[in-house]
Amino acid sequence: MQPPSPTIQARMDVGHRFGEEARKLFPEGIMVEAEFWDRDGALAETAQCFDDSAGSVLFEAAFLHRDTFLRCDVLRKVSAADWELWEVKSVKSPSALHILDLAIQTYVVAICLNELPRQQSIVKAGIIHFGVSDSTFAWTDLTKQVNDLRSEVEQLITNGITIRELEAAPQISIGKHCFRPYRCPFLGSACR
Ligand code: SF4
Repeated sequence: MQPPSPTIQARMDVGHRFGEEARKLFPEGIMVEAEFWDRDGALAETAQCFDDSAGSVLFEAAFLHRDTFLRCDVLRKVSAADWELWEVKSVKSPSALHILDLAIQTYVVAICLNELPRQQSIVKAGIIHFGVSDSTFAWTDLTKQVNDLRSEVEQLITNGITIRELEAAPQISIGKHCFRPYRCPFLGSACR
């Protein structure tokens, strides 16, 4: 895989700094420390946090449902069985893609929480982003929007599993889909 371009790297650096600042909004927060590539470790560490009822805020908690693995920026417990899920984005206003990303997270996390011995649920989902200036934060509640995308998320996950189980890669030419929303990492190597 090619390293990110200087422009993309600079954008990622801004995102990381913004994420670190956003975490300071939750001084009680507990970080799931497993590395991004350590899927089993992250799941086990997250499960341990629920077992221990540790903290009311988790950073980078990991969840898995129907082969969809993800980690949440901020999961905040607001009552005995209710959680809020907050994604952190270094943007002025969330895009449709951010909302779809949040909808996938909300769908997967809600199902996983519902399967815990003591059922729990997601009551609010939203994005923390830049406020009026780059040193302030805005919180946008997107609960209704992500709930409205539930059937689309179910279909996306089903499609992903169907494609993964094909015996041969689908014959698709290079096109706009290779660049949007992100440049595909296979472009230039497996696909030319
Ligand atoms: S470059 Fe990526 S998105 Fe484009 S056809 Fe190849 S695998 Fe698909």
